Amino acid sequence: MHRILSVLCFWLACTFVGDAAAQEFSSKPVMVTVPFAAGGPADVIARILAHGMSKALDQQFVVENTSGAGGTIGTAKVAASLPDGHSLLLMHVSHAANVAFYPHLRYDPVKDFEPTGLVAESPMAFVARKDFPANNFKEFVAYVKANTEKMTHGFAGVGSASHLCSLLFLHAIDATVSGAPYKGTAPALNDLMGGHLDFMCDQTLNVLQPAKAGLIKAYAATTPQRLKVAADLPTVSESGLPGFQMVVWYAMYAPKGTPKPVIDRLSGALQKALQDPEVKERLAQSGAETVAPERARPEVLRAHLISEIDKWVPIIKKAGVLSQ
Ligand code: ASP
Repeated sequence: MHRILSVLCFWLACTFVGDAAAQEFSSKPVMVTVPFAAGGPADVIARILAHGMSKALDQQFVVENTSGAGGTIGTAKVAASLPDGHSLLLMHVSHAANVAFYPHLRYDPVKDFEPTGLVAESPMAFVARKDFPANNFKEFVAYVKANTEKMTHGFAGVGSASHLCSLLFLHAIDATVSGAPYKGTAPALNDLMGGHLDFMCDQTLNVLQPAKAGLIKAYAATTPQRLKVAADLPTVSESGLPGFQMVVWYAMYAPKGTPKPVIDRLSGALQKALQDPEVKERLAQSGAETVAPERARPEVLRAHLISEIDKWVPIIKKAGVLSQ
C-alpha cells in the first residue's frame, strides 16, 4: 500500500508521503521502450519525444531498444512490466496490424495496456538502391514485376510498417518478391545503401536524407498529397496506383494497471511535448507531423486503436499476406 501511495504521490507531486519514498521514485528514470532497432524511425521519434516529456515533467526519460519480431518482443516486455508509471512503450500502426500477423501474440494490444496518447503521423516512401535501373515509380513497378526472382526487399520484421507497406504494394501489383527481415529499418537501410537489398518502403524519417544525398533512390511517397519537405517526390497515388496510401501513426502506452492519475500526468506531459516548437520542428523536418494535443489523450487513442485493428485485420487477410 505504501508503495502504491508512493508511486502515486511521486507522479502527482503530493507532499504527504515521507521524503525517502518520494526521493526513491523521483530519482528513477522513465523507461521508454522502442521495439525496433536504434537509429530507425521509431527510435528517432521516441528520443525526440522523451526529450520533450522530460522537459515537461522535469524527470529523466531513458529510451531503450528491445527489437525483433516486428516489434512484438519489446511490446510484450512492456505489457509484463511493473505498472508504476516508469515503463512506457512507443509503438506504431503495427500494434494494431500485428493482431493479424501473429495469431498467438503473448499480449492483447487493447486489454494489456493503458493508452497514453497518439503521438505523430509519419509518411513512407518507396526507395531503392542507388543503381536501381528505374528512373521513376512507373519504371520501378515495371522493373520489379519483370524481375521478381532477382529482387529482395528489406523490412523490419513480420508485421512491421515496412513489411505491411511492401506487402500491400506487392499485392497491388500482383507480384511476389522475397523479403529480408531486419530488427528495424535502420540496419535495413544500411544494407540498401550498400547495394545488398533492391528496395524497401520505409518512413521518410529514415530515407529522405540519404535519398537527397544520392545514397539511395526515392520514387514515391505513400501520402495522399505530396510532402511539403520533398515536393519534387511524386505520390504513389499519382504514379499509377491510385488510392495507395500508408501513413504510420505512432502512440504511447503504459502497462495495464498503471494508475489513472499517473497516466493522466504522463499524457499531460505528452500533450505539452507535442506543443513544444523544438519537438514539432524536428519531426516536421523529416515529413512527420505531431498530432494535435487533444488527440494525444488516452480515450482518443483507445478508440483509434480499436478502429485500426478493425481496419487492418481484414485488409491483411484479404491481401493473403499472413504467411509471406
Ligand atoms: N518503425 C520501424 C523502425 O523504427 C520500422 C518499421 O516498422 O518498418 O525500424
